[in-house]
Amino acid sequence: MKKADLHIHTTASDGRLSPLGVVRQAKQSGLSYIAITDHDTVDGLLLLQKEQSFTDEKLTIISGIEFSTDTPEHEIHILGYGIALDNPNLLEQLTALKRDRIDRVYRMVDKLRSLGYPVDVQRILSFAKDAASVGRPHVARVLVQCGYFATVAEAFDRLLNKDKPGYVPHYKLSVRDVIGIIRQAGGVPILAHPGLVGDDDLVEQVIEEGIAGIEVYHPTHDDVVVKKYLQLARRHDLLITGGSDFHAISGRYPESLGLFYVDGELAETLCGKFGHTSDGC
Ligand code: AMP
Ligand code: ZN
Ligand code: FE
Ligand code: FE
Repeated sequence: MKKADLHIHTTASDGRLSPLGVVRQAKQSGLSYIAITDHDTVDGLLLLQKEQSFTDEKLTIISGIEFSTDTPEHEIHILGYGIALDNPNLLEQLTALKRDRIDRVYRMVDKLRSLGYPVDVQRILSFAKDAASVGRPHVARVLVQCGYFATVAEAFDRLLNKDKPGYVPHYKLSVRDVIGIIRQAGGVPILAHPGLVGDDDLVEQVIEEGIAGIEVYHPTHDDVVVKKYLQLARRHDLLITGGSDFHAISGRYPESLGLFYVDGELAETLCGKFGHTSDGC
């Protein structure tokens, strides 16, 4: 069986391994298909293109992205696969998101100062130097460095989670907007980790908005959850995908690529749905 991992983050967002490091580790660990799915950016994939380190006979690299969208109570993540990296509308949207994420860091720093946690904004931005998508994980790391919290998890639990005082929302698109952007770029929209949405009525609503598939396999889904979403996918005739949500963060499973994988046939079926011929498959 060929192995695939269709959900991977790099230093282009909040992962700690560079895009080239991810490709190297994926090859070493025997994966045949990977998708790089950074939060709100394709910069990692553009870098791989520039380095001419893209698909070869051993490893197929699928272009991907993970968008954040917001509903009043829940944050929903939508994965887009096989997107054309030169699509003007996609690139325009991503530029706006990147700018907003930087503005948000300034707003977060103001808020943290008023709460008694002064931090230097430049320190956060330089920490995220390779990241097109700067976010709460980078802020959390600086809060730990400054000695306010022992761990990133503690910084989230006490300050940065959505229901905590240091939370600042970022500009997010609606589920419908994101599905439109992905489809316009020739890509396939997939609902990420439905088990983390926390509301299956909302999952049904996302399906009705025109999602093409759901991420049935994810490290946070146990066997019961996998079975539930397999049935849901079959009922609605949806594609089935899965991935490790790898960030290369110690203490967060999986700590290396190849530990969590899905059947390569899922990747092959997904690639068959792309609206154009990409460098990937
Ligand atoms: P943002 O998009 O800037 O609001 O940050 C959201 C990201 O923070 C998520 O995609 C996760 O990767 C990360 N995150 C959320 N909760 C935690 C946590 N408790 N510990 C570490 N990282 C987290
Ligand atoms: Zn992340
Ligand atoms: Fe996610
Ligand atoms: Fe993710």
